[in-house]
Amino acid sequence: HTPRKKPRIHFDDDEGLRKSHSTSSGPSSPLQKQREQLPIAKGRDALIREIRENDVTILLGETGSGKTTQVPQYLLEAGMAGKGMVAVTQPRRVAATSLAARVAAERGVKLGSLVGYSVRFDEVCGADTKIKYVSDGMLVRELLSDPLLSRYSVIVLDEAHERTLRTDFLIASLKSIQVKRKQAADGKRKGKSPSSEINPLKIIVMSATLDAEKFSRFYHNARILYVKGRQHPVKIFHTAVSQTDYVESALRAFFQIHLDQPPGDVLIFLPGQEDIESLEKTIISHAKRLPVSVTNVLVCPMYASLPPSQQARIFSATPSKMRKCILATNIAETSITIPGVKYVIDTGKCKEKRYLSKDTGGGFDTLLTRDITKASALQRAGRAGREGPGFCFRLYTEEAFNNLAASLEPEIRRCSLTQSVLELKCLGQDLETVEFMDPPDINSVIAALKTLWIIGALGNSNELTPLGRQMASFPVEPYLARIILASSAHGCTSEVIDIVSLLSSSSSLFLDISDQRDAIASARSKFRHPSGDHLTMLNALRAYQEMAETENKSSRKEWCKQHFLNERTIAEALKIRDQLRSTCGRVGLDWRASKKDSEEPVLRSFTVGLVQQSALLQPDGSYKQLMGHSVVKIHPGSTLADKKVPAIIFDELVYTNHIYARGVSSVPRSYFNGVTPALPNGS
Ligand code: ADP
Ligand code: MG
Repeated sequence: HTPRKKPRIHFDDDEGLRKSHSTSSGPSSPLQKQREQLPIAKGRDALIREIRENDVTILLGETGSGKTTQVPQYLLEAGMAGKGMVAVTQPRRVAATSLAARVAAERGVKLGSLVGYSVRFDEVCGADTKIKYVSDGMLVRELLSDPLLSRYSVIVLDEAHERTLRTDFLIASLKSIQVKRKQAADGKRKGKSPSSEINPLKIIVMSATLDAEKFSRFYHNARILYVKGRQHPVKIFHTAVSQTDYVESALRAFFQIHLDQPPGDVLIFLPGQEDIESLEKTIISHAKRLPVSVTNVLVCPMYASLPPSQQARIFSATPSKMRKCILATNIAETSITIPGVKYVIDTGKCKEKRYLSKDTGGGFDTLLTRDITKASALQRAGRAGREGPGFCFRLYTEEAFNNLAASLEPEIRRCSLTQSVLELKCLGQDLETVEFMDPPDINSVIAALKTLWIIGALGNSNELTPLGRQMASFPVEPYLARIILASSAHGCTSEVIDIVSLLSSSSSLFLDISDQRDAIASARSKFRHPSGDHLTMLNALRAYQEMAETENKSSRKEWCKQHFLNERTIAEALKIRDQLRSTCGRVGLDWRASKKDSEEPVLRSFTVGLVQQSALLQPDGSYKQLMGHSVVKIHPGSTLADKKVPAIIFDELVYTNHIYARGVSSVPRSYFNGVTPALPNGS
């Protein structure tokens, strides 16, 4: 039966919903006119004046008021970019790329000329770029080669409320950079160093949902400015009673909108890929059973591991006589405008990355579903009503909303710090001594230092080693960089890079459907390598590439389906591989180095980087971590599931009812000899 037959979900203001449709949607005027109508346009001159007079400005304004697209243009128009550039940071790459495209269109220029973007594994900008949308991670990387970020006159920290590790690091770094650049510029004016090209730096912090006072205190009581008003109203509904199954409720809410409400696309927020895929299936199958008179539904999934080209589908125009239904994780929550979206359905759930400390049996990052925060709920609602009046249906009660936490704990307080500690070391700084807005937990800092010492990035007195500096050049986790560097000694860099690229992709190569494991195992048997998952992965990639040389797109797709391989992962990995190869070139490594009999050299290389992710078989048949106390099981999706081998290395631990090691290879115990640095006597 169609969801029509199920009991309706009652929202608290059904009457209001009916009435609100009497207002017409906004006019579709040319881009310049649209710009002038944004709430922020009225405050433009005052805004520029304040920014001119203050080193740091904190700008708050409702979602859709025009902060992200307009402020950079105002700065440019007011000549404040000077000889430099305006950088606008975004916590997510899809925001950086889509905003750059929008602003380029508003200025009538080609993307990559005056307006460009730079995100990991993809950069579109040129010599004449003045406005650059960057992921926060890319700006951190730029610090390595340009510690004063001297190419930028103004840096806008957008969506600063998200408080990613990298945003927090930038918040802290920019504060000291600003002081240094001011000193350098003053020195220049006094004729001390006439050759210096350093100009003062302006910092702007923006968000719709920000603890502005806290930021202001951190930046020496910086000015807080507010943009008044919003362009279009968003009417918010809560469920009358709480819902037990958010996927099921989302399905029903979608069809209530689809069958009862006027045209307009729907954006549904779900916690993760699995929920998205299951809802996608049910929506499609229910939509097929609707009468032909009902508008067709076009379902577009949207999550981080989807390749950028597929993510871009959500931005393309909805075909006529169709209603687009976007199923997204919180990657679509902030910053972006998805044209056509008029209705938002918010399940109230998200996945949160959290570092499980050693004392709770962990020592690794986990991803758990939890309730969202008020800040997220406001951002999600804000995705409706960007082009005209919108509606947001929350699948939770108003009381539940009131009980949500105000905002998420900053990542620095809950994630692994290994990469950040290394990045900072390269900048000659110690994470422990950086003045963060919220300082990290000392135990996480110690864990990160220990990891870096074990993989040889830091020496016995915590000093950065040449190897550590090389690791930091690679755009992957330090332990993966260590594996690549180790492969050089073993002459198998080509093989290792192939595997590391697959591991760095945002989704896994092997599809794992728990009730089809037998079928999967037999389909995959021809790639199977006796040593385990790493070389099986390599075999699969090689087989794919061989097949792809002769086959067309659709048979490639079919081939992947038959072998239960994720073709998107391969596409993403091949791009990452290009990057890793060129990084090898920069650090003087020959990526072409390859061994015909690659098992031993590859596994030896991996052991060097994965020494902390290893376990030894115990007399009772269990595996116990080599470093750490946890007993782990081999994940049932692994090629080594149920096997008893003397020692294993693994890519990650997943924490469900057991602690499972995933991405497992069997290695001789002797490979561990000498892979960790020796402590000096007495330490
Ligand atoms: P804010 O950062 O304050 O949330 P933005 O500057 O991102 O606001 O966007 C302001 C408005 O500009 C949006 O509400 C929308 O009307 C319009 N806009 C921005 N990007 C696009 C786009 N890609 N397509 C259509 N309209 C857009
Ligand atoms: Mg914005």
